[in-house]
Amino acid sequence: MANSSGLSKSLIIKGMQCPKALFLQKNPPAFDFPPQPDLEAKFRAGNEVGILAQQLFPGGTEVPFEDLTVPEQVAQTKQLIADGAKVIYEASFEYDGIFVKVDILVKDSDAWQIHEVKMSTSVKEVNLNDVAIQFYVLGNCGLLISGAYLVHINNQYVRQGEIDVQQLFAGEDVLEAAFERQTDLPQIIADLRTALQGDEPQIDIGPQCNDPYDCDFIPYCWQHIPENSIFDLKGRGIKKFDYYEQGIIRFEDLPLDALNKAQRQQVEATLNEQDSTNPQAVAAFVETLWYPLYHLDFETFNSAIPKFDGTRPYQQVPFQFSLHIQQEAGAEPQHFEYLAAPNVDPRRELIEQLLELVPEDGCVLTYNQTFEKGVLRKLAELFPDLDAAIEVRLENVRDLMVPFRRRDVYRWPMLGSYSIKAVLPAMVPELSYAGMEIADGMAAMQAYHDMCALEPGPELEKLRVAMLEYCRLDTLAMVRILGELGEMENGN
Ligand code: SF4
Repeated sequence: MANSSGLSKSLIIKGMQCPKALFLQKNPPAFDFPPQPDLEAKFRAGNEVGILAQQLFPGGTEVPFEDLTVPEQVAQTKQLIADGAKVIYEASFEYDGIFVKVDILVKDSDAWQIHEVKMSTSVKEVNLNDVAIQFYVLGNCGLLISGAYLVHINNQYVRQGEIDVQQLFAGEDVLEAAFERQTDLPQIIADLRTALQGDEPQIDIGPQCNDPYDCDFIPYCWQHIPENSIFDLKGRGIKKFDYYEQGIIRFEDLPLDALNKAQRQQVEATLNEQDSTNPQAVAAFVETLWYPLYHLDFETFNSAIPKFDGTRPYQQVPFQFSLHIQQEAGAEPQHFEYLAAPNVDPRRELIEQLLELVPEDGCVLTYNQTFEKGVLRKLAELFPDLDAAIEVRLENVRDLMVPFRRRDVYRWPMLGSYSIKAVLPAMVPELSYAGMEIADGMAAMQAYHDMCALEPGPELEKLRVAMLEYCRLDTLAMVRILGELGEMENGN
């Protein structure tokens, strides 16, 4: 039998997604979970946003969660209210074993307003439940609630100088939605408690495993799903759980007629371990390129709080590029690179260096041109004096992803994907991202944030080396993949 001690807002939210997830959280199974991604950075960013949002209602007192027990936090909040506090940050309440913290609690005559701060740019259904639980607990603790707001990031805000918190945040009145949910909440909570009293709930996998959040227990609950299952099928148009419920799980069991052309190719190629190539299409693609050829890759970062003037929340800001230049087909490339200094707006320097390296008539090869072109267009908008120079280069951008997206070249280990992370090991197995300190774009973005937080010294230098190595591999990968396409074109 499971134990059922207290609940928190996040545990109820978890239980509303799936009662089994709540049960497993409270009663961890004996299972060897793979290491979790490091959530510390996300937590830090959320904290930064939360602290900034407090400036919307300055002069409040914070009830800290570090070093205080739950009863102490609740007692401190009670005392602040009794003492006539007007604004309380992280106000803490407990009712019927349910503990909540309110990001910002604001006195409104005889009543109180709840302000829940989110890093997202809009209100989501799950956020309404979040506020509703706070409303439920506070109401039952005897507080009159006159307002409930979700404070989220306003993605139309453009930073100029110091952050303007009134503009960075947008508040949405969700009182009615929170109020409406009060009818069902007591029963939902009672049902969750019942689920916690028994044995592990018999709940099968389903769309709830990723909605609204990716569940932590996927490795445990999905153990029975074999390799090459319906869930590995790429593309849309297939109701995967409908097939799963009918027991159609493995590629071998899928009705090929129900699949689109690309999905069918994925399934057949996997089952037969069969590659395919369309040499004419590859040759036609290779002929669209000219030399010298400039293999280009940008790394960008974004943040909820815009870091530099002229940027919006979550805008992609380039901080690094790698450029491999090939003078002729098959030639060994020369390498050039740029990596921003910490905490300095790098955009002008970055684009000036790139324009010096890439001549107006140079053929620029990217992998997924939408991204690189988007970065270049933003830079052209930002620097009108460079607009014409950038526009000319934009016309010469080509996309190495095209033959893979069109499946002119398909290797069965790509498993239906045409991302460079899937294409590289299938096309050039000797080159790999495995074992690299920074091995994907998300890690590169995090590295930028880390770089900005580090003091000059060996740790910063080590990080910069890892950042350069990663970006360099992205363009070297393009050189080698193109080399393989060239071989195919030559009939090898
Ligand atoms: S993985 Fe799915 S079934 Fe398992 S606990 Fe999570 S949501 Fe529930």
